[in-house]
Amino acid sequence: MMLGLLLARAGVDVLVLEKHADFLRDFRGDTIHPSTLEVMHELGMIDEFLKLPHQEAREISAQVGGERVPVADFTHLPTRCKFVALMPQWDFLDFLAARAARYPSFRLWMRAEVVGLVEESGRVVGVEVMTAEGRTHVRADLVVGADGRHSVVRERAGLEVRELGAPMDVLWFRLSRRPEDPANLMGIFGSGRIFVLINRGSYWQCGYVIAKGTIDEIRRLGLEAFRESVARIVPYARDRVAELRDWKDVSLLTVRVDRLARWYRPGLLCIGDAAHAMSPVGGIGINLALQDAVAAANLLASPLREGRVRVDDLARVQRRRELPTRVTQWLQVQVQKRVIAPVLGGAAPARLSLPVRLLRRFAILRRVPARLIGIGVRPEHVKSAVAPGRVDRPVSL
Ligand SMILES: Cc1cc2nc3c(=O)[nH]c(=O)nc-3n(C[C@H](O)[C@H](O)[C@H](O)COP(=O)(O)OP(=O)(O)OC[C@H]3O[C@@H](n4cnc5c(N)ncnc54)[C@H](O)[C@@H]3O)c2cc1C
Repeated sequence: MMLGLLLARAGVDVLVLEKHADFLRDFRGDTIHPSTLEVMHELGMIDEFLKLPHQEAREISAQVGGERVPVADFTHLPTRCKFVALMPQWDFLDFLAARAARYPSFRLWMRAEVVGLVEESGRVVGVEVMTAEGRTHVRADLVVGADGRHSVVRERAGLEVRELGAPMDVLWFRLSRRPEDPANLMGIFGSGRIFVLINRGSYWQCGYVIAKGTIDEIRRLGLEAFRESVARIVPYARDRVAELRDWKDVSLLTVRVDRLARWYRPGLLCIGDAAHAMSPVGGIGINLALQDAVAAANLLASPLREGRVRVDDLARVQRRRELPTRVTQWLQVQVQKRVIAPVLGGAAPARLSLPVRLLRRFAILRRVPARLIGIGVRPEHVKSAVAPGRVDRPVSL
């Protein structure tokens, strides 16, 4: 959606295809990072954007064993917004869609599922789409696969995937929130348990991290046992766990961490999770996807407007974004190996004691995770819009 907006703003014909009928999907986290807020500022949208209901997390803390530890302090970042905005993704995407729709060269088809690629002489020249009216084809100078960690586009394109592995999956559900509850984004680490609470105002979005492959065992033990384990981790929510009436209230989000060896083929580019599926560790995958979109728009708007996108142009996008992806995934994998896997195995939280002591003692150290989470590696900046010109065939995303 962000790439669609940026390209339409630069005068490129864009068609965004979204398989669902709306964006009310609860599977991608809620964090809008300082660097993304900076992009919104560069686009002149920040004031309007921040009028949408949201919470502002100026620090992130964790509860390790029984102790509360501040982990990241965003208040010193060199960005206009020194906080992570917590906002449901559907509000963010609706906002971007409404803003993009102001550009005449932007189109969005909902309930339009990409089911295949159209190829001619080894080049991708469009996509096969399933819509409410039936199957159709869309031709395009460039197809951008931004279809997430289960990307159909990358699979149909036959791009080689390198798996980095993830030891966990996440159970995702809501519990109501009361004014006297803590306000901050919280991670709770206890022996065998990792639990994340995201403040969505009237309710908590909860992420219960489980060892990969253990969901059947958890379901076999029954919902009552699951409620009891939630109540033990979050004692102040004990009287609310009955809100989980059915397993349907608890979604399983599968975690994968991987990346493509090559993000492109002639006529096709993947970005975001489709190019590099991110772990939820640090809540930074959305930010990285957004930064890919900004870099792709900066590098591709001119060639697209002039109808001359070459493989070299697509390679430049990967070269630009490869380093941030590798560094971020490396850090996520380290946390998965050194913190998450041992904790889920029941060994921690004693293993966390040194970093915990350091973070608690030296406030300045909290700026390091804040920078990694809030801005990340190689932040991108929006180029100013260029005079609109139109191309004959749309880019499809
Ligand atoms: C449990 C969990 C929690 C997470 N929490 C956070 C967090 O708090 N903060 C954070 O920054 N990151 C988080 N992440 C990572 C984050 O979700 C991803 O990195 C991010 O959503 C990637 O954005 P994207 O636009 O590439 O893909 P997505 O957000 O997955 O969007 C892909 C879009 O493509 C659509 N689509 C898919 N297939 C098709 C098709 N065939 N045709 C048409 N449309 C299609 C989907 O409906 C969707 O709208 C989390 C990940 C997991 C697994």
